[in-house]
Amino acid sequence: MKTVMSILAVIFLLALATAAFASPDNPKIPLKVGDMVYVCGCGESCPCKSMSMKPAKCTCNKKMVKTKVLRIEGDNAVVKVKGAEETFPMTGKYVCGCGAGCDCNFVSQSPGKCACGKDLVPAK
Ligand SMILES: [Zn+2]
Ligand SMILES: [Zn+2]
Repeated sequence: MKTVMSILAVIFLLALATAAFASPDNPKIPLKVGDMVYVCGCGESCPCKSMSMKPAKCTCNKKMVKTKVLRIEGDNAVVKVKGAEETFPMTGKYVCGCGAGCDCNFVSQSPGKCACGKDLVPAK
């Protein structure tokens, strides 16, 4: 039993080290240029700036828009939303707290629910 537990622990640590995902310890969505991402479609003035790798509603409770990452500028992803370029911070003040294995990668600047329907956790 002890060996099974330690093997599981090693697998878990390896998964943590290799898979980059947004978490309260690392509240950053791992985006690259060309990645498809779901973003808040409320417009530039919307403060929520929600982004997710999975279809979801943003923290203003609107359906998020699927788009492609055009550029990465520092810590921001530039995407096209409804024909206009918009900048989204990749680091969220709130993030999916589901932990390893969750691939929703939801980050937002305001509290709400992630793509899995759980409450977002404030970033550490
Ligand atoms: Zn929004
Ligand atoms: Zn989640």
